[in-house]
Amino acid sequence: MAYVRWSYPGKPHAYDSAVYIYDSAYGGIDCCGCLLNSDPEAIRGYTAADHDEMIDHVRKHIEAGHAVPDFVIPRLEEARDEENE
Ligand SMILES: [Zn+2]
Repeated sequence: MAYVRWSYPGKPHAYDSAVYIYDSAYGGIDCCGCLLNSDPEAIRGYTAADHDEMIDHVRKHIEAGHAVPDFVIPRLEEARDEENE
């Protein structure tokens, strides 16, 4: 499941997002092609072990001034809470 995809306003989604975050097929949650990742060999970008770790990671993107839609952190929190029920 994708929490958010790359997008400029209206192309292809209504929101503006510099991040693409989804549940990894290998476990954990990926931030694909992460802009915070300085290692060019890391094609998959950043992988968080769980939702809380990804929420912290998303906050770093926001601090860095990257476009992150407001719904991303609530979606991650919701998925975490569903998993813990
Ligand atoms: Zn990232």
